[in-house]
Amino acid sequence: MRALVVCQYGGALEVMDRPIPRPGAGEVLVRVRASGLCSTDLHLLSGRQPLGELPRILGHELAGEVVELGHDVVGWQLDDRVTAAIDITCGRCRHCRSGQTQRCPTLRRIGFERDGGHAEYVTLPQANLVALPQELSYESAAILPDAVACMYHSLIHQGGLSVGHRVVILGVGGLGIHGVQIARLAGAQVLVTSRRQERLALAERYGATGVNPTRQSLEEAVAEFTAGEGADLIVDNIGTRASMRQGLTILRPDGKFLIIAYLNESFEIPSVPLFKTEQQIIGCRGSTKQDLIDVVRLVRLGQLTPVVGASYSLDRIREATARLESGDLVGRIVLTRSFDTST
Ligand SMILES: [Zn+2]
Ligand SMILES: [Zn+2]
Repeated sequence: MRALVVCQYGGALEVMDRPIPRPGAGEVLVRVRASGLCSTDLHLLSGRQPLGELPRILGHELAGEVVELGHDVVGWQLDDRVTAAIDITCGRCRHCRSGQTQRCPTLRRIGFERDGGHAEYVTLPQANLVALPQELSYESAAILPDAVACMYHSLIHQGGLSVGHRVVILGVGGLGIHGVQIARLAGAQVLVTSRRQERLALAERYGATGVNPTRQSLEEAVAEFTAGEGADLIVDNIGTRASMRQGLTILRPDGKFLIIAYLNESFEIPSVPLFKTEQQIIGCRGSTKQDLIDVVRLVRLGQLTPVVGASYSLDRIREATARLESGDLVGRIVLTRSFDTST
């Protein structure tokens, strides 16, 4: 099969031939129809975030159909349309027992510590599978586990977002555009930042107020947006020292600052302002299977729209990567496959 393999850090993402994996006990083989390309894939390729053992097939969000059942698989059948929760967790620790599986200390992730979905086939544990409704396309479904479910987890669970809240989303890329929709759905007002007008325009169509920080003072815009109080919640998709420093200045006392970006940055937190304001800085790691089930339902109900900005066949990964790096894109990039058996 064709697959995107990392053989060494620092190279380009290449399509290579690999054997089709066989499902073990409790696993299924899925023919992947589409997978989401994430900027984290590029960080993993660079080695900034280690993958453990190489070679490794990347791809942590995907959709496809079940084509083979391993031993002891119950409740799944051939041709079932599925997507998959990213984390493979122990099921026994205190975090798993309380449903906070993203904190499982021994978790392994599809497309990180285990081969992922940027391939024609992938084996997946049955415990990770989530059924897809017929009306949801594979391309739309492929971006739900990360680009949509992570925003849902961050805003709703980690951020405690609620009706009337005023949210600022720093950076409205593949994740942020779904954050806008989820925040609006929860009854919040949303202000987003981007240097790209087309991204702001789409966010505004979903009900956000757009600010281009190269043309307008973010501090002034947020002061106006919140009547001088500061934001209740900030989602930092940029993840740099500068974005964090600026974010804390536009956050209200007792407001929540959500760390989303998977970058290896360090921040200095001045203690007295934090003491005085009781601001909260909160890490947000991935999503749970229940988050993914929730977003599949919201999409099926038409309350949430997966935004696919561009799709490329797996073989055109170089073009897809260049597009992702250029930032000349609104929404998420999807990598598609074509099979002889496709209907
Ligand atoms: Zn990702
Ligand atoms: Zn666990």
